[in-house]
Amino acid sequence: MGARRAKDKDADRRIGRRALLIGGTAAAVGSAVLARDELARLWYRAPGVRKPRKEGEVDYAGARWVAASDANWRLADRPDDYGIDMVIIHVTQGSFDSAVKVFQDPGHGAAAHYIVRKDGHVTQMIRELDVAYHAGNRDYNERSVGIEHEGFVDRPEDFTDEMYEASARLTARVCARYDIPVDREHILGHVEVPGTDHTDPGEHWDWDRYMKLVTQARTAVAASRT
Ligand SMILES: [Zn+2]
Repeated sequence: MGARRAKDKDADRRIGRRALLIGGTAAAVGSAVLARDELARLWYRAPGVRKPRKEGEVDYAGARWVAASDANWRLADRPDDYGIDMVIIHVTQGSFDSAVKVFQDPGHGAAAHYIVRKDGHVTQMIRELDVAYHAGNRDYNERSVGIEHEGFVDRPEDFTDEMYEASARLTARVCARYDIPVDREHILGHVEVPGTDHTDPGEHWDWDRYMKLVTQARTAVAASRT
């Protein structure tokens, strides 16, 4: 990561977007609250003012928080400083525990926002506000949320039903939060990131199945807001 020159920040900036709503609260808010959030969002745009953060807070209601080493990501204020328009799918090439451990290791130099375990458990290690070093491409890191999946690319049995379903629900929520289209241009594998030498999630990752599940979950999120 960091091999590429930073592009103009404003090119990615999304103007006039709704306030960032943290994990699952969107369904509960009324228009008065939205108006207040709109004001709050503008206030946060003032120079030097960042959104408030609470230790242990997650962006996805179903996730458990375990902090990654701050050497493996950088502080940002997304989606205000960088627009988010991609979800990048990874496979850990190891166990869930080993992935958590390396993301906590400041010497590793990389980490993703989320890890999905084979049993469907989701751990968040980096806030979506921040830029995680997971794609090996600075521009893609700045624009994306990275999701790791426990297992090995050459072991299709690692990709369990529970994992596909939990990951699809998570991706659907991310897509809903940032208005990301549910298609393969915006939900991509690490292997598809320009300049990468990584092959994950590999040929056994069932994209047709996954995209169907994300589409279903995205529809369910939309329905829950009406
Ligand atoms: Zn990867």
